[in-house]
Order: sequence, then C-alpha cells, then structure tokens
Amino acid sequence: MIQDQLKTRVVGVDINVDATSCAVVDIRGNIIGQSGFVTSNYESIGDFISVLTEHIMQLSEAHGGYENIRSVGISIPSGNFRTGCIENAPNLPWKGVIPLAAMLRDQLGLAVALANNAHAMALGEQAFGAAHGMRDFVVVSLGSGMGSCIFSNGVVHLGADGFAGEVGHTCIKPGGRQCGCGKQGCLETYTAARGVVLTAQEVMSESDEPSKMRQVEQLTPKIIIELCNQGDALAIETFRRTGYTLGIGLANYASIFNPEAFVFTGQISKAGRWLLEPASESFEDHVFHNLRGKVKLVPSSIPDDVRNVLGASVLAWEVKEYSLFK
Ligand SMILES: [Zn+2]
Repeated sequence: MIQDQLKTRVVGVDINVDATSCAVVDIRGNIIGQSGFVTSNYESIGDFISVLTEHIMQLSEAHGGYENIRSVGISIPSGNFRTGCIENAPNLPWKGVIPLAAMLRDQLGLAVALANNAHAMALGEQAFGAAHGMRDFVVVSLGSGMGSCIFSNGVVHLGADGFAGEVGHTCIKPGGRQCGCGKQGCLETYTAARGVVLTAQEVMSESDEPSKMRQVEQLTPKIIIELCNQGDALAIETFRRTGYTLGIGLANYASIFNPEAFVFTGQISKAGRWLLEPASESFEDHVFHNLRGKVKLVPSSIPDDVRNVLGASVLAWEVKEYSLFK
C-alpha cells in the first residue's frame, strides 16, 4: 500500500566564510538537532557538496530520519534566490557562478532553496522573531558590511536583478570615506565595522580626553561596545556619531519604503542603546514628517547561534516539495 507521508521537518543550512552549520527544524521553528563543519577546508565545490550531503544525511538520520525531511534551505553570502546560484562571492573559496541549489538537490533528492543571508534572516524574523506578524519591514545587518532585506506587503522585494536592499552602498556623504566598492561616502563606511573604528580614531584625535580606547592596540567594535558599557565617554561618543549617521541613512530608506520597523542584526547592533538611541533621535529629525514616531528601530529577537539556520529553514518551507527548479 502506498501511503502519503506528511513530512514535518526541514533542514536549514547556513554557509559562511568560516563555518557551515546545519539544523533539523520542525514546523514551529524548534531546532531538533544542529551541527557544523569548517567551510574553508574544501576548496573544490564538488568536495564541499559531498561533505555537506553526508552531513545533512547523518544529522537527519540522528534526528527523526531522512524520510521525514521535506526540503532544504540555504543561507549564503551572494546567494541569488531566483537562480539558486552563488554569484561571485568575494569571501567564499569558490569563484564564479555556482548552481549550488541544483547541485545539492541532485545529491540529496530533495528540493533545495537558496538565498543570501539578509533574505534568510528576514524570513526568520518574520516567522519567529522581531518582525513577527509584520508585512512591511526591513532587516538590516550591521557587521563587516551593511546589508538589508526589504519585505513589502508580506513578501520579499528582490528587485530586477536580485540586488535590492544594498543600503550600505547608498551615498551619505559626497566625497566622504573610501568604500570597498570603489565609491566614496557610502553609508557602510560609517556604520559597519571598519567605519566604527575609523570614527573612534577621529573622536580620539579631536581631544586629549582620557579613554581606554587609547590603550588598545587593535580596536574592534566589540571592544568599543564593552567600553561604552563601562561608561567610557569617547567610546559612547563613537557610537553617538555612528547612530547619528545611521539615523539619516534609515530616514532616507524609510521615506522611500515606509516600513513598520527596522530590525537590526550583526556585531555592530550589539551596541544596543549606545547605537539605537542616537540612531532613533537622528532618524526622527531626518525622516519625512508623516512618518515621524511611526517606524520602530528594534534589535533581532533571535539568538545569534540559530538566526541563520532558522531563517534558512523558513526558506526551505517556501520551496515546492517536488521542485523542478532549474
Ligand atoms: Zn560602497
């Protein structure tokens, strides 16, 4: 007798430069099992896919059986949701355009969906996190760069080429700081990791005021945040300026998209109120008057160690179970 079986679990995969993490997740977003391996050990994409396949199968067998897995979702930098390819990822070991979703599908015999990190995170926040129940919101990731994902009327807005949301490369200051993208004055040169450290150096150079930041050989945003928490005035001033600039960038963004909220993730957002209070103030000063007091600026409510796999799991539910994708 042939029996239709309702498959109640998916696998969420988060691939980044350092680590690849996989999780078996149920429909309520409970993580049943999670494990990972080092991404950079595999310079050939073929070897990586073989190891990832093996890993997913073992993890699934250990947590309820492979036959209960409906589909797989992948969160990866430079991932293109439309094509299922990773496209010229600057920091991953594999160059060019790689049809990762199709390759993994062929190995596993399961439907596979793929998206960039911001997109996957936004799906996770909408299903289980700070954007729960919202139809119009933007997830902003503030880390080594500044990325974002727009949800409009309940669905993701990817743009004609899939590059929508590159708010980090909008110009906030003509002729300003040099950006890695080749342009000058991009928002992320003030709000992402390198920019915060540059601002700290500017703040220190403008006064003789004592600060523990002066004693640190290699300043990082993490250290500056710790010093804010200890009450270091120059560290606090660093994030006040960062927040001020961020607020202007977000006000421009909000005036175009009218989101209900901005949800923040990434190491810079760990600054919490040191960043978000000045950002909110500046946001309200710069946003179009009809939006004043209406847009929330909130941190992600999903723990760091599961955010991306959880987002990837939501992506997995979105793909058709027997996809003819590509
Ligand atoms: Zn740029």
